[in-house]
Amino acid sequence: YAAKAKGKNRVQMYDPSLLQDDGRLQFEAELAAAAGAGELVLHYQPIVSVREDWCVAVESLVRWQHPTRGLLQPSEFIPTAERTGAIVAIGAQVLRRACSDAVSWSGPSGPLAVHVNVSAAQLIDQDFVATVRSCVTDFAMPPDRLVLEITESMVLDSPAIRTALAALAALGVTIAIDDFGTGYSALSTLRTLPLDIVKIDKSFLSTGPSRAADQAVVEAIVQMAGRLKLKVVAEGVERIEQLQFLRSAGADATQGYLHLCPTPAPEFGSWLEQTNATRQEAGSVPRIGP
Ligand code: C2E
Ligand code: MG
Ligand code: MG
Ligand code: MG
Repeated sequence: YAAKAKGKNRVQMYDPSLLQDDGRLQFEAELAAAAGAGELVLHYQPIVSVREDWCVAVESLVRWQHPTRGLLQPSEFIPTAERTGAIVAIGAQVLRRACSDAVSWSGPSGPLAVHVNVSAAQLIDQDFVATVRSCVTDFAMPPDRLVLEITESMVLDSPAIRTALAALAALGVTIAIDDFGTGYSALSTLRTLPLDIVKIDKSFLSTGPSRAADQAVVEAIVQMAGRLKLKVVAEGVERIEQLQFLRSAGADATQGYLHLCPTPAPEFGSWLEQTNATRQEAGSVPRIGP
């Protein structure tokens, strides 16, 4: 701490802009060490099938338990990790942990699929496909149970991304496009990529004045996805009215606080057990959620 204090005094005296740099460099160094230091935490959120009204998949969402700053959300460190390249090591650890956690979880139609978010920087890393292959092998997962979520904001028609997606598709893993509707993908781009799932961005589930227009967009996405043989997951479902709308619009699955907020693995496991037990006892369809 002496060196840090001294450094801070120095920059405060001579050049305030360096103080920012000092803090930024320290943050980047901590981030580079975070995976190795065991500071990454995964939270899990269920993905609920409309047809079965039951949890069929789970999404892993990373957090960083920072030694002094507390639990950091992805928006507070993923952009930096993408810029510095730390995302490659972080992402590899997330992938292994998500697979190892998820192999013990089952729903009504068998083991849960596990969704893992992937950044463009990971996708084009030369070791990524091997990392994915070893995850599938080491945890004896049927490859289609692993769902890689890429965002629509990635440059989806870049050759490097296309090559990576083709290699992943050849492995048999499932590929989802996340935050759909917020980017600028031409429909023709979607058609030529090996995609399986479209996740409609939560911004289309508004309850305000733009509701009718947003609902029209959701209906259009569902219809387009159906024609392209893609499954549709809607994220950000907080209210029962939104769930009802999505059912009538023909979405395949829903995700959001209405079902469960992202929670640590043990809590998610208990929630799943309880949900499964309730369903078995009742022998009918219980309402999942509050
Ligand atoms: P995403 O993949 O689109 O994840 C959905 C985000 O919406 C999550 O935020 C989740 O907590 C939040 N959410 C879930 N249900 C609701 C709801 O009903 N209402 C609202 N308002 N929000 C809801 P989170 O966990 O902060 O993650 C933000 C983003 O960070 C993710 O968006 C994803 O793009 C990225 N991310 C998360 N984990 C990873 C990871 O392991 N690797 C990479 N590369 N990116 C990640
Ligand atoms: Mg996602
Ligand atoms: Mg999303
Ligand atoms: Mg997102």
